[in-house]
Amino acid sequence: MSDRGGPIRQALIAGGGIGGLAAALAASRAGWEVRLYERTPVFSEVGAGIQLGPNVVRVLHGWGLKTELARVAAFPYRLQVRDAMSGRELGVLPLGERALQKYGAPYVTVHRADLHDLLLRSVLVQDKVWLNRDSCLASYEDTGRVVTLKTTQGLEVEGDALIGADGLWSRVREQLLLNDGPPRVTGHLAYRAMLPQASLPERLRSQQVTAWLGPKLHVVQYPVRGGDWLNVVAIVQGQIQSDLQSWDHSTNAADLQAAIQLTCAPLRDLIAAVTECGAQAGPAWRLWGLCDRPPMRGAHQQAQGRVALLGDAAHPMLPYLAQGAGMAIEDAAELGAALAQALDPAFELPALLQRYAQNRWQRNARVQARALRNGQIFHAEGALRWGRDASLKVLGQKLLDLPWLYGGTNSNQR
Ligand SMILES: Cc1cc2nc3c(=O)[nH]c(=O)nc-3n(C[C@H](O)[C@H](O)[C@H](O)COP(=O)(O)OP(=O)(O)OC[C@H]3O[C@@H](n4cnc5c(N)ncnc54)[C@H](O)[C@@H]3O)c2cc1C
Repeated sequence: MSDRGGPIRQALIAGGGIGGLAAALAASRAGWEVRLYERTPVFSEVGAGIQLGPNVVRVLHGWGLKTELARVAAFPYRLQVRDAMSGRELGVLPLGERALQKYGAPYVTVHRADLHDLLLRSVLVQDKVWLNRDSCLASYEDTGRVVTLKTTQGLEVEGDALIGADGLWSRVREQLLLNDGPPRVTGHLAYRAMLPQASLPERLRSQQVTAWLGPKLHVVQYPVRGGDWLNVVAIVQGQIQSDLQSWDHSTNAADLQAAIQLTCAPLRDLIAAVTECGAQAGPAWRLWGLCDRPPMRGAHQQAQGRVALLGDAAHPMLPYLAQGAGMAIEDAAELGAALAQALDPAFELPALLQRYAQNRWQRNARVQARALRNGQIFHAEGALRWGRDASLKVLGQKLLDLPWLYGGTNSNQR
């Protein structure tokens, strides 16, 4: 029996990325037993950075992770937008104390592995959570009364709810019969590198987020690991020829250097230094082919019956608003609220999962749409580029600040 006299409920979670672990933490805090299945042999994240807006940091603080997060995060003092061709400053948004005052939480930047590890450690100290590695969901069956998860290793396990947090190529989503096919290949490529700032010349070290906008490309750099490391991601337009599902590819820095050859000297200097200094422990850059899906169209795309989707499984997006993992963590918080209510026998679980979906899908759709639009604005050419630069000059801070995003957490708080 649960603390409230109702039966103990069991959540099955497919996927142990940032979204799956956040869901496990939220479900466990809501009083559920959790069984999580991750297909890889180790729980880990890729070596790249991640930005977390105050909307996401507020959720993590609410879960009691403030001190742990502060230990691994960097706190950039501002966002500076620069023209990648001339180097000119286009706009600035102060972060630091201003974000804290305005939104009740800071804007932070972290190494993904540090965030993943922090969530993993928080989950491991919870009661009644079982984490299974090397366990790949093959299919599930929702009978209306229970849901059964089947793994490719032949395991069958029954629970009250199944959370599909299995990422971009989600099998749970595939089985929900949303009839929308595979993710879209966007034709955008992300080159990512991360290295100790001490290995870079002093002039290139930085404690701010810098976004360099150029025709058909942009570059974002920010500190991680308490400011000791620098993360750099360069987005260019092009296609990956090999298997997209394996995502992470070692790459040839020469392709990136060719793509940015017409940009300003400070940006070329940064990319060249990262290439040279980052190469001491293997290839400096890793390459991702970016995929997404069109913005969500309804709650049915996020929950049906006893099955709910969360994170990239539900709403994969381009990373141009830096909120994909953020929306996964917000999803998890909303899911936790629904699961807490489900311990009361007066509530039907499918109705609560529907409410979760209702409360989340519009905000997720809005973030997906805004990320898409940012891609067009960031990579603009001609008149659109001129208009962008002029608007940023006049309205800089107003355009870069996003109260609807940083101040809210779900659809009915917009
Ligand atoms: C270049 C780039 C920059 C980004 N920057 C930011 C940023 O600054 N801020 C931000 O918030 N977001 C950012 N994102 C987005 C963010 O990375 C994703 O939205 C987030 O990682 C999604 O987490 P997830 O747990 O939903 O999915 P994933 O991280 O894909 O995790 C899915 C997990 O499920 C497992 N899995 C898959 N299939 C199965 C199966 N059948 N059975 C069991 N397990 C399975 C996988 O192994 C994986 O561990 C960025 C993305 C990119 C590409």
